Amino acid sequence: MTTLLLDGGPVAPDAPVSRTGGVPLGPAGTLWPVCRACAGPLQFLAQIVLDAGVLALFMCAHRPGRCEQWSPSAGGNLALLLPAGGLVPVPVPRGADPQVLGLGAVRAAVSAADVSSAAAPEGRAVLGSLGGEPDWLQYDETPDCPACARPMGFAVGLREGPDPVTAMNFGSGRAYAHVCGGCGAATLLWQC
Ligand SMILES: [Zn+2]
Ligand SMILES: [Zn+2]
Repeated sequence: MTTLLLDGGPVAPDAPVSRTGGVPLGPAGTLWPVCRACAGPLQFLAQIVLDAGVLALFMCAHRPGRCEQWSPSAGGNLALLLPAGGLVPVPVPRGADPQVLGLGAVRAAVSAADVSSAAAPEGRAVLGSLGGEPDWLQYDETPDCPACARPMGFAVGLREGPDPVTAMNFGSGRAYAHVCGGCGAATLLWQC
């Protein structure tokens, strides 16, 4: 079943809720991840709280298009499936440009199932969806798990966001995050 993810408005940058923007959370000692293509620090896009854990999504913003940011395997993006407990803000790398580390705005992403009927869904921007089937813009690109090689399960679909100044950059397209719960693996890809 597909559940819509709706814009929940501004939220604290380290809030332990589903959100776009802000700072990533990770187990104590986690280092800020880097792009495998250009070695620069990745931009933190979003974290989504799932039954299986907390999905953290990153993408390279140093050289748009040149690190194959859309690919589930090229290393220009990163998806991590983290255990839900004991997460703390990941320290920001020294001297890094905040523009390439984050989106500039922090917005809660609320499940339509959790929004009271009085408040929604009218008037809230759709940020994406949880579960169900991916709404591929192009072709079915379901990735195979890098650990067990079986097809991964679709977890989250994301749109760029309602504010173009602070939006995620999916080439005006949509992003798709998949997980393999058994292996604890996650991938991000996008299509436009
Ligand atoms: Zn890069
Ligand atoms: Zn697997």
